Amino acid sequence: VYAFSLQLTKLAKIIVNTNNFMKSDFSVRILGRSSAIPTQHSFPSSQFITHYNTGFLVDCGEACQIQIRRNGISMNHIRHIFISHLHGDHYFGLFGLLSSMNLLGRKRALHIYAHPKLEHILRFIFVQNGDGIKFPLIFHALSHENKQLILETKRLNVYAFPLRHRIPTCGFLFLEKPKMRNIRPDAIEKYELNHLEIRRAKMGKDLFRDGEKLAENVELCYPQEACFSYAYCSDTSYDSKTAEYVKNVDLMYHEATFAKDMLHKEEAKYHSTAGEAARVASEANAKNLIIGHFSTRYQSIQPLLDEARAIFPNTVAAQENFLYDVSTGLKME
Ligand SMILES: [Zn+2]
Ligand SMILES: [Zn+2]
Repeated sequence: VYAFSLQLTKLAKIIVNTNNFMKSDFSVRILGRSSAIPTQHSFPSSQFITHYNTGFLVDCGEACQIQIRRNGISMNHIRHIFISHLHGDHYFGLFGLLSSMNLLGRKRALHIYAHPKLEHILRFIFVQNGDGIKFPLIFHALSHENKQLILETKRLNVYAFPLRHRIPTCGFLFLEKPKMRNIRPDAIEKYELNHLEIRRAKMGKDLFRDGEKLAENVELCYPQEACFSYAYCSDTSYDSKTAEYVKNVDLMYHEATFAKDMLHKEEAKYHSTAGEAARVASEANAKNLIIGHFSTRYQSIQPLLDEARAIFPNTVAAQENFLYDVSTGLKME
């Protein structure tokens, strides 16, 4: 009986661990990790970010909608699309995606955050198309000058920040808002807390009655859960300001188009090497780094990964269709 119950305990632990491994409230799925030209097995930049039940698409390179289908993502689940800049490898997939949303009878509003020129391009294309876009499309123009708050949801703030590229380009920072503390049932009983006092305690306040402090917040609540953050650093040359914009980020994606052999070449002027991506992650005090936007000149990504890891060991190379947990930087599934 003892041996059997031991087995059950082990099994329970495995189930718990598996659940922890599988479940994430904040994740990034890589839909495309390539720069410029799509190949048979790799696609231009695109990522799907999930935060609780809200889906965000970041960049929309060609074949993005095929990758969306391949990964079982519902198009209706996408509420917000962020386009870093107007180079084709970051937005040529948008026309097909919006057309499909139209054909599927989308009713839900869709928010697009991009350079103001994109609004004109979209209107032109869809007017030519005859039908226009039949669902509410809300366009948010990015300024590309300073770090700015561009979206606030119940649990998350999204910022855009400028990068250094051939044309105006933004990175995006997804930052969780401070989470409400969980109240201790024994504290409710001990202090006979009313609804207002519970709400105040959950917001981190101490307990006061008649101007007198009765209890510190730590007596009333469990420790506050950590807040996590994800930064998407699209096409850019090395810029020391990037690290300031995303200081202490948990998971950073940074372009690493080239290896150091291309460092001073004209072709690489507005892009980063793997070493430079790692330097930004290190200067930002990031916890984990994903490098991507690889040039098709590299048959193997390993030299780029080695170059980055020599500077920032917690680096992985983006893989198409892989899902990464923002809090740990680990691959899931
Ligand atoms: Zn690009
Ligand atoms: Zn570009």
